[in-house]
Amino acid sequence: MSAAALRADVAIVGAGIAGAALAALLAAQDLDVLLLEGTELRGSMPVLPTDIAGVDPRVSALNVVSRGVLENAGAWSALPDRVRGGYNAMRVWEEDGTGRISFDAADIGAPVLGFIVENRWIMACLLGALAVQPRVQLRSGERLASLRLPAEPGQQVELSLDSGLTVRANLLVGADGAQSAVRRLCGIEAPARDSGQRAIVATIRTSGSHQSTAWQRFLQSGPLALLPLAALEGGHASSIVWSADIPVAERLLSLDDAAFMAQLTRASEACCGEVLEVTPRLSFPLRQLHAPSYTAPGMALVGDAAHVIHPLAGQGINLGLADVCVLAQEIARARGRGQSVASADALARYARRRRGENATMLAAMQGFQRLFGDTHPAVRLVRNLGLGAVDRLAPIKRAFMREAMGL
Ligand SMILES: Cc1cc2nc3c(=O)[nH]c(=O)nc-3n(C[C@H](O)[C@H](O)[C@H](O)COP(=O)(O)OP(=O)(O)OC[C@H]3O[C@@H](n4cnc5c(N)ncnc54)[C@H](O)[C@@H]3O)c2cc1C
Repeated sequence: MSAAALRADVAIVGAGIAGAALAALLAAQDLDVLLLEGTELRGSMPVLPTDIAGVDPRVSALNVVSRGVLENAGAWSALPDRVRGGYNAMRVWEEDGTGRISFDAADIGAPVLGFIVENRWIMACLLGALAVQPRVQLRSGERLASLRLPAEPGQQVELSLDSGLTVRANLLVGADGAQSAVRRLCGIEAPARDSGQRAIVATIRTSGSHQSTAWQRFLQSGPLALLPLAALEGGHASSIVWSADIPVAERLLSLDDAAFMAQLTRASEACCGEVLEVTPRLSFPLRQLHAPSYTAPGMALVGDAAHVIHPLAGQGINLGLADVCVLAQEIARARGRGQSVASADALARYARRRRGENATMLAAMQGFQRLFGDTHPAVRLVRNLGLGAVDRLAPIKRAFMREAMGL
């Protein structure tokens, strides 16, 4: 390692939503943070869209806990009202039967169930918040090449970057996504389980209003979600996440726009009316993984580096921001006791508080996928009866809602 290494209290690899939010929370604790991002980041604010082509097809359904984390990171208040649209209801139903369930914010006395926000806006506001933090150094275009964890307590982590730069830090955080290099270089094996599905993502304009409602229909080939966007007047713009078994997804991707829109109108049972316009479709493979360990001496994983979940319940970044919140709390607690930011106790407490909770959510999503993917008549009957029963049982429904909202 060269003598002219960059130094920081905490080095975070990966400036996605999780890494950038953590950098902001730690800078607010007066820590020197080095945020390393492999791609070139653009610092400018996006333009407010005037049509669906101007909307980022990648959106996140943020729960109220995520909103709190983004508020503390200084990003939430910078989001224009039009791009942080709240949704106050959710309707879930299935193609193959009579099962349906509805969730309304009013049932639990909440103003909204959550917010649908374009990812590029979340990122732009986080980067804006970091730009005024003198203690955060963001270096984009810097990829992690190798690392050495401390052999003994009190030693620093050493990183080598592709550019030839070296870094020394007391704590390394891997926020570098599903293919995390930090996770791999720390020897934490987390094999991905292929769901056999792809997600098709696009923005649509519909003849009817989305009614500030998130719609999810379980088709035999996978779940289709229509997420309401507030960005365009009149409530006619939605973001879709259509998860489908690979052969079905490939067929949907090969359709021309008119045929795809007709198929989408049918598949959604025209819940927002007819689909009149669609942007170019993007598609993502759907995998699930869970790191068996979130920490090593001097290192913690957060966000997709630690867990990747099926997007059917829109929980991915919510779990990641909850990790970030808990890790920042445990670091503050350790420092309050005069311990290092990489204190073994703090890292163990972080892993304990987050891994079990994330495991429960991952298992629930796997269960949902199996339950709704099964065409056996007995499973269909249980599904129909079960959804109907839960829909009528207010206390259980409220408990489900609180869980999904991160309350
Ligand atoms: C189709 C789809 C729809 C989704 N919808 C939702 C939703 O509605 N709600 C929700 O909560 N979640 C959703 N998710 C999940 C969500 O997008 C992810 O959980 C989230 O983006 C993960 O954020 P992250 O910051 O942990 O990782 P990432 O966004 O993957 O960021 C990782 C960063 O690390 C950088 N990086 C990687 N390797 C290196 C390296 N070696 N050196 C330096 N930098 C590196 C990358 O360039 C990247 O910027 C969805 C996912 C999919 C696929």
